[in-house]
Amino acid sequence: MLTITAIGIPHKAIIPIPTDDTWDIYLNRQLVASGYTSERAAQLQLDLIAFHAMFGVVQLDPRGTVTDQAVDLALQLMRRLFQADPVRLRMERARREIIRTMGTIPLYTIQPDGSLRVRASHPRCGQPHVYQVSTIILPSSAENYHLPERCRLREACDCPDFAQRVQQHAGICKHVAAKLILFLAQQGTDALKYLSNTLAEVSSRTAIDMIADDAVLLAYPLPWEVLVESSCTRIVAANEATVLACSSAEKDIARWIVCTANATIATQASANNI
Ligand SMILES: [Zn+2]
Repeated sequence: MLTITAIGIPHKAIIPIPTDDTWDIYLNRQLVASGYTSERAAQLQLDLIAFHAMFGVVQLDPRGTVTDQAVDLALQLMRRLFQADPVRLRMERARREIIRTMGTIPLYTIQPDGSLRVRASHPRCGQPHVYQVSTIILPSSAENYHLPERCRLREACDCPDFAQRVQQHAGICKHVAAKLILFLAQQGTDALKYLSNTLAEVSSRTAIDMIADDAVLLAYPLPWEVLVESSCTRIVAANEATVLACSSAEKDIARWIVCTANATIATQASANNI
């Protein structure tokens, strides 16, 4: 049977909420998580949510093989998908210490259910000597019940780094990084090259999402689409590459600015045509 999977590259946005000093996370203009106390924490979580939104459950093929070239391409792609240094560091270590080791016995095995088991490189007393990495689905709650299941997927590992330093890496320890790299590498080099090129194009035209003000608006020549969606309480408008948001109290004035900016652009365009 032929199975075709479409991988959409999601629009990512983190938006400051000045009134309560926190950050919200949007994926494809939909609020997927909120209440982060720093931009960095929000960015970390956004990258992981976006990865799952693109690829769904990270299920490895137990019979799949990976070439060195595919691993290198997978790592390049991971660098595009994850921006934070602590995560990038763990990706490098995953490749060096788990995936491409010189030992005769591989450090990892892929389980029949598609999860990954990794032998501990420095087993400690009282800790497991083999770590298990699996995809889990976060329980649904009042805040997330309306989201697609893909937005509630995360990876879980039982190593100490995963449990103790989650603020640093948002759930991407070295073992989780190894699983994500192997998963990408199993897609094959052609698919990875294509994905890399597409991502490069998308990121070069994605602007930083900003609080609406007229100077910001006029910096973007495209007309803005004014959004009136009840699920997006803070989103005001969007064009191909950017989402605008503001606090709910300022929404009406922001929307008025958007309409004025659109009208200005339309006037300029018709003046140029005369
Ligand atoms: Zn781990």
